[in-house]
Amino acid sequence: MTTQDQSPIILWFRQDLRLADNPALNHAHASGRPIVPVYILDQGHAVRPIGGASLWWLDKSLRALSGAIAERGGRLILRRGDSEAELRRLIEETGATCVLMNRLFEPDAWARDADIAHSLQADDVEVKGFNGALLARPGSVVNGTGGPYKVFTPFMKALRAQAEPPPHTTGPRTFEKPSNLDSDAIDDWGLHPTKPDWSKGFLGEPGEAGATVALGRFASGALKSYAMDRDRPDREGTSRLSPHLHYGEISPWQVWRAVHDAASAGKVQAAQAEKLTSELIWRDFSAHLLHHFPTLPDTAFRPEYDAMEWRTDRAGFNAWKKGQTGYPIVDAGMRELWTTGIMHNRVRMIVASFLIKHLLIDWRKGEAWFWDTLVDADLGQNSQNWQWVAGSGADASPWFRIFNPVTQGEKFDPDGKYVKRWAPELANVPAKFVHAPWAAPAEVLRDAGVTLGKTYPRPLVDHAEARARALAALKAIKPSGEAFPDD
Ligand code: FAD
Repeated sequence: MTTQDQSPIILWFRQDLRLADNPALNHAHASGRPIVPVYILDQGHAVRPIGGASLWWLDKSLRALSGAIAERGGRLILRRGDSEAELRRLIEETGATCVLMNRLFEPDAWARDADIAHSLQADDVEVKGFNGALLARPGSVVNGTGGPYKVFTPFMKALRAQAEPPPHTTGPRTFEKPSNLDSDAIDDWGLHPTKPDWSKGFLGEPGEAGATVALGRFASGALKSYAMDRDRPDREGTSRLSPHLHYGEISPWQVWRAVHDAASAGKVQAAQAEKLTSELIWRDFSAHLLHHFPTLPDTAFRPEYDAMEWRTDRAGFNAWKKGQTGYPIVDAGMRELWTTGIMHNRVRMIVASFLIKHLLIDWRKGEAWFWDTLVDADLGQNSQNWQWVAGSGADASPWFRIFNPVTQGEKFDPDGKYVKRWAPELANVPAKFVHAPWAAPAEVLRDAGVTLGKTYPRPLVDHAEARARALAALKAIKPSGEAFPDD
C-alpha cells in the first residue's frame, strides 16, 4: 500500500461487527483510501453452519452495523455465497487492490482464510489480517517449550504478564458516499424465524450500541459484586456480554479497560475487575485450545474418554431438551435457553453435567443442541466448556465431580426464584422443597397445586442410582481408577 494509491480497500466484516476499536478498520482508515465495507453470508462453506438462535442475533447485529455505517455516510454491502467468489466479484466491480479482515481463529475458518489470501495474492491483491477478537493471538501465549498451554492458570499468568490494552479508537467519522454496488436486502436472507417465530422471548440488544449499553450498565452495576453474584442465576450478577463478544460488537479489550477503569476510579474493588478479566481469559483459553487442537468439537481432548459407553436414550434426551426431567433447576435452565436464547453459566454447568453423567448421553449431543439454541453459540467456548464438564477436556473438572442438581439448586437459587420463573407450575411450592418437589409431603404439594407426573414430571432418574452408574461407566474406561470421592 503506498500513500499515493487511492484504489479502494475492501473491509471484510465477519465476527467483528463494530466500528470502534476495530484493528482492520483502523488500518483501512489510516491509509486514507476509500473503504468498501462488506459482509458475506457463506453458510454453504462453513464446516459448522451458524445455528438458528445465533442467526437471529446476526440478523439484528448486521442491521445495526449497516445503520451505523449509513449514519457515517457509507453503505454496508451484503452478499451471500462463496466468500472468495464474492470477494473477487467485488474486486472486479470496485477496482480494489486490498482486502483487510480481522481474523477468525477457528481452525477451518483459519485454513479457508489462508487459501483465499493465497489465491488473491497470486492476483496481486494485498490481503492482511488482524486480531480483533481475542486478548492475545493464538500462538502468542506459549509455555516454556514454545507449545500451547493445556492448563488454565499458567496460561492466565502468561497472558496477564503480557497484557497491554490497545488505545481506544472510534473508527472513521465518515465513509465514502455509497457506490451503486449490488447489495442483498437483509430481509431476503430470512435469518429471523417466521414459521413459527420462536424468538419472541429472546433477550438482548444486538449490535455495537447495545453492547456498549450492556457494558456500561454492568460496569456501573453488577460488577461491584461480580465475584459473589456470578454464580447466582436468581440475580442479575453477570454482564450478558457473551453474544456481543462472539459477534465482535465489542472487543474483549474494551471490556477489560472498562472494568479496570471502574476499579482505578475506586467504584469497584480491584478483585471484582480481576475476576471478570479472568473470565475473559477463559474465553481466550478456549479459543486458543480450539485453534491448536482442531478436533476439540468432535473428539475427546483426553482420548481415553472416547471409549465411554454412552446411552442412546431418546426419551431422556427429549425430556432434557424440553425441560421435563423432573429436576427443577435443570428444567428451568433448559426452558430459559429455549425461551430467551441464553442460559446462566452456573446452570449451563448443571444441565450439561445432568445430561452427561445422570443420563450418560454423549456430550456432543448436548453441545449440538446448545449450538442451535444459544445466541452466543461459539465453537471454542461451547466445545471447551462441554468437554470441561465431561471431564475429557484440557484442565477439566474430573468426571467423578457429579453435580447433585438438588444441592446445586439450593446453594445457588436458595429461594427458588429462578426455578419459579421458568417452571411456574412450581410457583407455590415452598422454597424448602422447590428443588426437590418429590420430597415434599403430599399436603404441601396439594396446597401448591402440584400433582407429580401430571402438572410437573417425576424425576427422570434417581440421583444416587445415576451417580453410581456414572462412576461405574468411568471405572469401565479407567480400570486402574481415579479417586472416587464420596459426595
Ligand atoms: P460474564 O460472567 O459476565 O463473563 C464475561 C465474559 O467472559 C462472558 O461474556 C464470556 O465471554 C466470558 N466467559 C464467562 N464465563 C466463561 C466460561 N466459562 N468459559 C469461557 N468464557 C467465559 N460461552 C459462549 O460465549 N458461547 C458458548 O457457546 C458457550 N457454551 C457453554 C457451554 C457450557 C456447557 C458451559 C458450562 C459454558 C458455556 N459458555 C459459552 C460459557 C459461559 O456460560 C458464557 O460465556 C456466559 O454464561 C456468558 O454470560 P455473561 O456474558 O453474562 O458472562
